Amino acid sequence: MSIKKTNSTTHIHWFIHDLRLTDQSFTTHLAGKNYFFGVYILDPRLFKHTSFGFRRMSLMRLQNLRNQLHALQVDLRKLGSDLLVCVGTPSKIIPELCKNYDASLSFQRATFHWEKTEQDKILNAIENVAFEGNENYLLPLESFTWRTNNFPKSFTGFRKKAEKMAKNIDWMYYPKPQELPNTPKSFSEIKKVKTPIHLMSAIPFPVNEQSALDRLNHYFYESKAVSKYKETRNGLLGTNYSSKFSVFIANGSISPRTIMRHLKKYEATHGGNESTYWLWFELLWREYFQHAAACYGAKLFLKNGINGGLVDEGLKVNTLKKWQNGETPDQFVNANMKELVNTGFMSNRGRQNVASFFIHDLKQPWWIGAAWFENQLLDFDAASNYGNWQYIAGVGFNPKGGSHFNTVSQANFYDPNFEYINTWSNY
Ligand SMILES: Cc1cc2nc3c(=O)[nH]c(=O)nc-3n(C[C@H](O)[C@H](O)[C@H](O)COP(=O)(O)OP(=O)(O)OC[C@H]3O[C@@H](n4cnc5c(N)ncnc54)[C@H](O)[C@@H]3O)c2cc1C
Repeated sequence: MSIKKTNSTTHIHWFIHDLRLTDQSFTTHLAGKNYFFGVYILDPRLFKHTSFGFRRMSLMRLQNLRNQLHALQVDLRKLGSDLLVCVGTPSKIIPELCKNYDASLSFQRATFHWEKTEQDKILNAIENVAFEGNENYLLPLESFTWRTNNFPKSFTGFRKKAEKMAKNIDWMYYPKPQELPNTPKSFSEIKKVKTPIHLMSAIPFPVNEQSALDRLNHYFYESKAVSKYKETRNGLLGTNYSSKFSVFIANGSISPRTIMRHLKKYEATHGGNESTYWLWFELLWREYFQHAAACYGAKLFLKNGINGGLVDEGLKVNTLKKWQNGETPDQFVNANMKELVNTGFMSNRGRQNVASFFIHDLKQPWWIGAAWFENQLLDFDAASNYGNWQYIAGVGFNPKGGSHFNTVSQANFYDPNFEYINTWSNY
């Protein structure tokens, strides 16, 4: 984190993908401040229809986000502060707020090009009063120095470097503060929205900071499910076949560093095994895509991907609709698509299959499938989503070219008794 000296007595933290108070470096820099408040800015473009015929953010995702913001506001209020929610452009709103309140500013550094561009504009506008954290990543911010000519072309290459670097990390995180400076004045209310949780949802819990810590406690210490993660991670039904941390990490209810700190603690107490290692391995996939996004910028979203591969552009609206609604000739794909629409979640196994089916069997443009995932997934993360889609399409980081799954044999192997298919066939 870089900090510049400032005499202002008010501090603002701009919450972006870090809707939490634990593991936030800004909380340790509030000494001497009389006032503090948080701000969150909603981008109005998220609610406009795209040329693909749907919004970038579904109503379910929006309700989930509102609830997360509400929970954060409640937490801030308990500590004497508050959260301001605005709709608009950060590079216009933030400098104005800083000017009006003569405030210093902090935020978590972004990896995506448009977010970075906004942040750079802000840094230029309020040069003397900003600092940025990097508590959304496992590796230090200094390690985000890849250029396209030296970025590891395979995950294995990246993992080896990351594991070497991680030897020196002690996984400390910033504890939740006990109190905060008060707000300079009161702000708008955010009302909690009732988000009905689907009976069969694999994530039957609210998404907020406390719930993230409860889930971690359950997955590690109560159920010890983490010790079987490698054997269960390809599951399709239930909460404990995988960690379900993604919904919390995506908007930052928990930081990956907090998870690592507990993983190490768990290994020290209960013993490490292939499964506990594998959770770190998977978290490194996330890290890999974050670094790739930072390195390749807009290419993450371009049709030809980061490798400039050949793509099929022929969108058929009817085919897209049938895939979205789970009405294709493939019942395993349909079950997964229905789970997604009903709950905002789908297993990793499911995601790989439906994406492969969309691209390689239905011959549809990968970026439109990715956009539908963006609309639907409660754990939507631009780097992980577009990175994985590119990987399967063969325009990204996949050393084997693309990945074409045989969805019938995948269903036979992972759902031999049709339990999963039968669960979702009635919805
Ligand atoms: C086409 C496609 C799109 C995807 N889109 C997203 C997305 O928008 N957001 C997202 O968080 N993940 C995405 N993933 C990755 C993965 O499917 C989810 O992270 C995982 O299913 C979430 O469940 P979990 O937390 O129980 O995962 P676990 O299996 O418990 O894994 C633990 C954590 O490791 C990370 N992780 C695991 N697998 C991957 C992976 N392949 N890529 C990146 N990180 C990974 C996640 O942070 C996850 O929470 C996508 C995968 C595919 C194939």
